[in-house]
Amino acid sequence: MNKFILETGWAVCSAADVRDEPTYFVVEDGIIQEIGSGTVSEPNGIPVIKRPNSVAMPGLVNTHGHAAMTLLRGAGDDLPLMQWLSEKVYPNEAKLNGEAVYWGTMLAALEMIMSGTTTFTDMYFFMHDAARAVEEAGLRGVLSWGMVGFSEADREKGILQSTEFANRWNGAANGRIRVTLGPHAPYTCPPEYLTEIAELSTELDVPVQIHLSETKGEVEDSIKQFGYSPIANAQRTGLLDRPVLAAHCVHLSEADIQILQQHRVRVAHNPQSNLKLGSGVAPVTKLLKAGVRVGLGTDGAASNNNLDMFEEMRLAATLHKGVLMDATAVTAPQAFSMATEEGAKCAFLEEQHGTLTKGAQADIVLLSHDSPHFWPNHNLLSNIVYASGADDVTDVFVQGRQLLSNRVPQTIDVERVQFEVGRIEQLLKS
Ligand SMILES: [Zn+2]
Repeated sequence: MNKFILETGWAVCSAADVRDEPTYFVVEDGIIQEIGSGTVSEPNGIPVIKRPNSVAMPGLVNTHGHAAMTLLRGAGDDLPLMQWLSEKVYPNEAKLNGEAVYWGTMLAALEMIMSGTTTFTDMYFFMHDAARAVEEAGLRGVLSWGMVGFSEADREKGILQSTEFANRWNGAANGRIRVTLGPHAPYTCPPEYLTEIAELSTELDVPVQIHLSETKGEVEDSIKQFGYSPIANAQRTGLLDRPVLAAHCVHLSEADIQILQQHRVRVAHNPQSNLKLGSGVAPVTKLLKAGVRVGLGTDGAASNNNLDMFEEMRLAATLHKGVLMDATAVTAPQAFSMATEEGAKCAFLEEQHGTLTKGAQADIVLLSHDSPHFWPNHNLLSNIVYASGADDVTDVFVQGRQLLSNRVPQTIDVERVQFEVGRIEQLLKS
């Protein structure tokens, strides 16, 4: 039995439950058994972790990314998406092997743990190696093996790889790893392949993540080639009848938004990556108004260029205000929710994820309230969204296991990661 008590000075248990008072959590076997005010007077021999100067909050959920792309951070900046992909990403990715993906994912895990992310979604390749890194680092991962369908051989390989990956890893690492299918996009997977993937998703009983309508060019090409937008195209293949998490959704018509709403498609909003690649700004206020569930993501580190969800949260809460000239667009509680509770639902995780509540998974992040930008405390949640940052993260727990203690990683050999990443960097440069 693994049981401990965590005592904190404040807690934002969810956007709707902010506690401006000392709060304790009793954690047993990875689950929050009890939450109470003040401190525990008689712990009865149960270990107590005392953090009176800390704010507890749910771990952040990154709903879109390609973890091992940390290896390509800075390898090609200031280029539009298609040119960046063809000239910088694909040639470098061709040099990667399973071992490189393992270390790239480990680097991502280190960065995520140190910036308060406890759950992330991933779409990449050599996924057995990525999953191994997730298992060892102690994070929660919603993982997919990227699928493209340019040729019959590609398509067959994709089906086989994803089936094997799901059978081997879905529910592994004490349930911390979930597998989804990962068709890359409608411009890399023809309609009949998306139909086949929808059928496989039913057969394996796993959901789907995909990129949809990221750039204006993608939408124009889709209409030219298929006669439909990428979203209408995906609908026609049957893919949207399955549980789907769609990354980006930047360029949407009213009809597209209706389709997303009707099919309960979850959207991963990646404000930083969309800005950096010059793709545009997703109509998040319209999506929220239509009742579409929206989470936040960093996308791969090569188009961001970090995995800091605090930046995404603040950007989501400020970007739309500026674009729409409306200071009420995407409020701090909405942005916080997208980065935690809504994010978890987008990532197909059940109710017991993304909030600090009795019976929930103990995925807890502590922030130091000693940082001057937390003073005064007119509004704790507002301070987290608009004033705090990744450097305030001191401690991270996933399923009750401590992955970061006073800013020291507990599950990852930092020097080894730095060494291996340096070695792979030389390989990519050669
Ligand atoms: Zn992506």
